[in-house]
Amino acid sequence: MTGSSAEEKSTEAGRDFIRDIVQADLAAGRHKEVVTRFPPEPNGYLHIGHAKSICLNFGVAQEFGGRCHLRFDDTNPVKEEQEFIDAIEADVRWLGFDWGTHLYHASDYFQQLYDWAEHLIRNGKAYVDDTPVEEMRAMRGTLTEAGRPSIYRSRSADENLDLFRRMRVGEFPNGARVLRAKIDLKNGNMNLRDPVLYRILHQAHPRTGTTWCIYPNYDFAHGQSDAIEHVTHSICTLEFEDHRPLYDWFLDNLPVPSRPRQYEFARLNITYTVLSKRFLTGLVQQGHVRGWDDPRMPTIAGLRRRGVPAAAIRDFVARIGLARANSVVDIGMLEFSIREHLNRSAERRMAVLRPLKVVIENYPEGQTEQFDVANHPDDPSLGTRKVTFAREIYVEQDDFMEDPPKKFFRLAPGKEVRLRNAYFVTCREVVKGQCGEVVELRCTYDPASRGGASPDGRKVQATLHWVSAAHAVPAEVRLYNPLFKRPDPGAEGDLAADLAPDSLDVLPAALAEPALAQAAPGTTFQFERLGYFAVDPDTRPGRLVFNRTVGLRDSWAKAQKG
Ligand code: ATP
Ligand code: MG
Repeated sequence: MTGSSAEEKSTEAGRDFIRDIVQADLAAGRHKEVVTRFPPEPNGYLHIGHAKSICLNFGVAQEFGGRCHLRFDDTNPVKEEQEFIDAIEADVRWLGFDWGTHLYHASDYFQQLYDWAEHLIRNGKAYVDDTPVEEMRAMRGTLTEAGRPSIYRSRSADENLDLFRRMRVGEFPNGARVLRAKIDLKNGNMNLRDPVLYRILHQAHPRTGTTWCIYPNYDFAHGQSDAIEHVTHSICTLEFEDHRPLYDWFLDNLPVPSRPRQYEFARLNITYTVLSKRFLTGLVQQGHVRGWDDPRMPTIAGLRRRGVPAAAIRDFVARIGLARANSVVDIGMLEFSIREHLNRSAERRMAVLRPLKVVIENYPEGQTEQFDVANHPDDPSLGTRKVTFAREIYVEQDDFMEDPPKKFFRLAPGKEVRLRNAYFVTCREVVKGQCGEVVELRCTYDPASRGGASPDGRKVQATLHWVSAAHAVPAEVRLYNPLFKRPDPGAEGDLAADLAPDSLDVLPAALAEPALAQAAPGTTFQFERLGYFAVDPDTRPGRLVFNRTVGLRDSWAKAQKG
């Protein structure tokens, strides 16, 4: 069997190569308990790619009775902020995972890491280099050309120790010197060509304040942090494969308390979506979106605000499986999972996005009726609500055509349709405004069709949603389309040029049935015939705001084909 079909096999069984490794390690007694970690850098909000890593790390720990740590890799105080730390914690919790007491920070280990740096220096395995950054970079060579040693590479351990200690107490300005590992300048793996371990950075840190003015690089902090925490399986994305030899070199050359092993999996990529914190930060900072939690963003916060249930994200991650080869997942797969969950859980309501007034001429003025309507067609436990019918209602502008083509089954002059849960109505007259625009329809109803049932077996070809003019509540509805107009945004180097012009469409004058008036922010409903809509936190008393989470059908895939 080839590697990839073996991977597919294990995915089929609800398993994957990581879970197979963990199970084998436990069965062979190599570990008593599996310990994983999710290690975000708090320099942005989490996105759905991170969700894949979170579900994997926390999921493996749960399934095998181990534990998963949340560890902030906070080694770069220039870009890291408390806002991001708080958002990351909230997002992991919301996704349904719990680190219990195991919340850690790379900065918790700054003293230990410093001591280990001195350990390397004493053993002749690290040196202070004064070479200017640019020059140092050039001297590291290329894939085809070996690196060249700096003149500082042969400094004595004592001199290195003295300089490193003076770096620590702040004697030198930013960039004056670095501490480098002394490994192998000719190694084919660039990561082993004497990588930088510490740099001088006179910058306060969100957690350690001004205690430090030198900070360990990610590579020097990450593996040792795993070792300190007794992480057994250090799971990361493929781009770190080339870092594994360095990760192992540190473990081999330092008196670490445990020996984690690193495993790599393919990162999540989704069509029409950018999953890179650097680019997402750019979108926020340049104002292309309204913030990290803009519902168009692939961030966890954005998806939540959009109305996506956490369970749908977990389900999506399970469905796409885990492999070692990079691939791109169709955005339709995510929408499928969202739709499936909301179809089961979302209560049904009626709302009209672009209202067109309808007067039912033979319905008595001042009269109203209430219909009991099920909140969910398949789940009676969700109960019923009252929907009020009256002489003046609104329907969707799109549901009427004055001069319809043959296949248009909805309202048109002389045509009869069903108003959902109410009556059959027939369009008798079209009222127009000064510019010839349709402003109102005059209809009649059939009193024998109460509840929307056919009185005599005659058929109508469409059932429309509607709201009562006097009872409906005003709403702003925000429709979202993909943020990018090409499936591989940024592929030609200019992400901003690939932004879609119509990713947000605000409908300020929608009308919702009164049962929605008190809807709490975060709740998602199915608006009949339209899709799933979540109450936005911008909602205020008297001003409902809804986000379209996703349409009812996969119109996106169809549009692409068309
Ligand atoms: P980005 O690449 O988005 O700028 P990052 O990967 O550097 O960010 P981290 O905070 O370091 O972000 O990521 C934390 C963890 O999430 C890492 O272990 C990383 O491998 C994983 N991760 C990040 N992006 C993805 C992705 N698209 N798919 C799966 N895992 C991911
Ligand atoms: Mg990273």
